[in-house]
Amino acid sequence: MNMEASRDDRNTWGAKLKRTLTSFLPVSADRVGSCLRCGACCSLPNRCPFLRFDKEGFAACLIRPFRPLNCRKYPRDKEEQICHPCGYSFHNNLKNEKKTADYTD
Ligand code: SF4
Ligand code: SF4
Repeated sequence: MNMEASRDDRNTWGAKLKRTLTSFLPVSADRVGSCLRCGACCSLPNRCPFLRFDKEGFAACLIRPFRPLNCRKYPRDKEEQICHPCGYSFHNNLKNEKKTADYTD
């Protein structure tokens, strides 16, 4: 399930700094879906040294209980979402779709 992050011009250290500095803000209410544990967002912009993959190929963070807020909340809003595909998406008007944040605890 290891997917490479899509590399576009938003995948920069500046973008990572911005995610870090804004990570105290709430996750967008428009976010729906759940994390697929592909690990792509753990390689923005370079692969994190704490990223591991289990036998099934799912991403597993070596420091999961202590990982920073920007990891817990990614993608916090549509603007910061760089990796595609991702289990999360953003919909302004879907009132009935289940909103989840099940990999942010
Ligand atoms: S948040 Fe998205 S990109 Fe990151 S591991 Fe989960 S599914 Fe993959
Ligand atoms: S600290 Fe963990 S969750 Fe954050 S980028 Fe590294 S491996 Fe991913």
